[in-house]
Amino acid sequence: MALLLVVPLFGPPAAGKTTLTMVLGRHDGRRVFRLREHVPHEVLSATAGSSEQLGWIDDHIVEAALRDYFRGVADDPEAHTVLMDNFPGSSNQVGQLLSVLEEFDPPSRVEAVEVHTDSRTLKQRAQNRKVCHRCERDPISDPRLPAIPKPDDIWACSRCDGVLHPRRGDSPRLLRARSQRYQNAAIGIRTAFADWRIEITDLDTTTTIDGATNLLSPLLISRSPVQ
Ligand SMILES: [Zn+2]
Repeated sequence: MALLLVVPLFGPPAAGKTTLTMVLGRHDGRRVFRLREHVPHEVLSATAGSSEQLGWIDDHIVEAALRDYFRGVADDPEAHTVLMDNFPGSSNQVGQLLSVLEEFDPPSRVEAVEVHTDSRTLKQRAQNRKVCHRCERDPISDPRLPAIPKPDDIWACSRCDGVLHPRRGDSPRLLRARSQRYQNAAIGIRTAFADWRIEITDLDTTTTIDGATNLLSPLLISRSPVQ
């Protein structure tokens, strides 16, 4: 089966992008792309320590990672949909993604989604979310995937019983910088999609992320070949 649908999800930190892609990505034939899983570890380490860079990855590395990734997906007979968690992060990356996708035949449909939430909810989610170093072995010890705490102990992982930690990037200083960077980039990202004649679906996750998942599901199901 050829890849049919690519769904880039972008939005401010803590808006629920990772949770959405984790939930939606569980269906057969869907894949989730997270840029940092496809770049060399030394590149991640080099950008991790600096608050100006905030894990920012150079354009040529991004393009190579995208091309490699989509080649792999094109060869995967089961894959029909790719959800892109927190990508694109800039107007440049919009162009890179769409140019790389044009190298493949047949062309896939692109449905961009901008996730947003009011600022109070963003702050609350960032304060509450935790990660598990044991369940998520990150190459530079900076796990990102939301962990589920035990019902009776918010600091214990429900999967492995280990101690949960806040996400490194959710410290107030880094969160502020990441939010600012998103605000600066978002206008360019929207313009770049418009230049490519791609509409952006707005997705509000303020009430619940699960509710937002339900809002997005029909869009994915109606486009996927497996009914
Ligand atoms: Zn765990």
